Amino acid sequence: MDRDMAEITVTAIPAFADNYIWLVSTGGDQCAVVDPGDAGPVEQVLKQTGLELSYILITHHHADHTGGMAELVSSHGAQVYGPADSRISSLDRILAENDTVSLPLLELEFRVLEVPGHTRSHIAFYGHGCLFCGDTLFSAGCGRLFEGTPEQMQVSLDKLAALPADTQVFCAHEYTLSNCDFARAVEPDNVQLLRRASEVEAARAIGRSTVPSQLGEELAVNPFLRSREPSVIAAAQKRNPGAEAGASTLAEIRAWKDSF
Ligand code: ZN
Ligand code: FE
Repeated sequence: MDRDMAEITVTAIPAFADNYIWLVSTGGDQCAVVDPGDAGPVEQVLKQTGLELSYILITHHHADHTGGMAELVSSHGAQVYGPADSRISSLDRILAENDTVSLPLLELEFRVLEVPGHTRSHIAFYGHGCLFCGDTLFSAGCGRLFEGTPEQMQVSLDKLAALPADTQVFCAHEYTLSNCDFARAVEPDNVQLLRRASEVEAARAIGRSTVPSQLGEELAVNPFLRSREPSVIAAAQKRNPGAEAGASTLAEIRAWKDSF
């Protein structure tokens, strides 16, 4: 496949209070959506744009990411691709680490990364400079550890952190403002974080989205991608003097965030 043929366009479809369902298209009349928690807002956009839904990509089983699947499949016959998990019904293809997902009608291909932590079967999709990471990585934050260990989340976040710095991070929630508040508590002297936080405040004040962000910037401001930075380790050690670089620091700041 000639990857240069298709130019990817990603559009946000807001859903519920703070979810983003990502609509992916390439200039033709077909499209894909990532994590359609609700069919209604997707149907509305399909109607407005005249796009036909060919593919549904699922990152994890939570209802706010899968709730609209069945309805969209029955009205559009879209193919559904997602992780191996009995809690997600009727997938056309089950995906695992390093699989390639081809969307031939869009001339796009994505690589699958297994990123357990938020849930045990969570996956992410990477391709064409875009990362769809569900609830694993947020801008300036990460997902709660519902089913995984800090060690697993550390490995998952390391995998995402290793992608090219200019990767656009399409996470599934608009949590950036509160994430920045917490990140500032962890690293009050991080100048790049302070700059990002004021940009985010300005954007949210006029109702603008703060997603996607750039991976390179996340590496500089997101405390959950910085568990080996002395400043973040020091913050973790205030809660637990035994915290060390990596998973144990991630564990402390994640637990701190849970009650922040
Ligand atoms: Zn979730
Ligand atoms: Fe979610």
